[in-house]
Amino acid sequence: MSADVRWDVVTGDLTRCATDAIVNAANSSLLGGGGVDGAIHRAAGPRLLAECRTLGGCPTGEARITAGYQLAARHVIHTVGPVWQGGGNGEARLLASCYTASLTLALDHGLRTIAFPAISTGIYGYPKQAAAAVAADAVNQLLLEEPGGFDDIFFVCFDEASAAIYADAVQAVRSS
Ligand code: ADP
Repeated sequence: MSADVRWDVVTGDLTRCATDAIVNAANSSLLGGGGVDGAIHRAAGPRLLAECRTLGGCPTGEARITAGYQLAARHVIHTVGPVWQGGGNGEARLLASCYTASLTLALDHGLRTIAFPAISTGIYGYPKQAAAAVAADAVNQLLLEEPGGFDDIFFVCFDEASAAIYADAVQAVRSS
């Protein structure tokens, strides 16, 4: 991977990250939901939902961008992870696409510090170790293709156990 970028796994609340963008694990309506999505909408205030209403939804594996409103982050990149259905339904490809599409959108907007949640690992039921491996691999690939494109990438996990899983996955691709 590129030596220029800092890539860290942290335990914490994504809604408090003062990055250029936080990534929302949204659903395809983009009209809010539970988990991190609900927390982001609560913290951003009602203007986020108003902007999301103008977007007309988002297919699984793609990403859309809005302002951050009352969040510490300047922007929200909304991406729609796959629902885990056992792994035979393109889940890994779609989850990788969430990370790639989000980072590509960030690059297009000149956003250099990005914080991700553990997409699909909550309500959508993706097993954490498998999700972490896909996430780390997708980010690593994009960083190789776009050296110098970012300053900081964070994987923000809500609990220590998840953070340990994501840290192991990042370590694995870094040392590969
Ligand atoms: P999905 O529907 O994509 O599974 P969820 O929001 O249910 O999305 O969960 C994704 C991950 O985000 C889960 O691992 C969950 O523990 C975590 N999470 C929930 N709220 C927050 C938060 N405020 N900050 C960081 N991570 C969070």
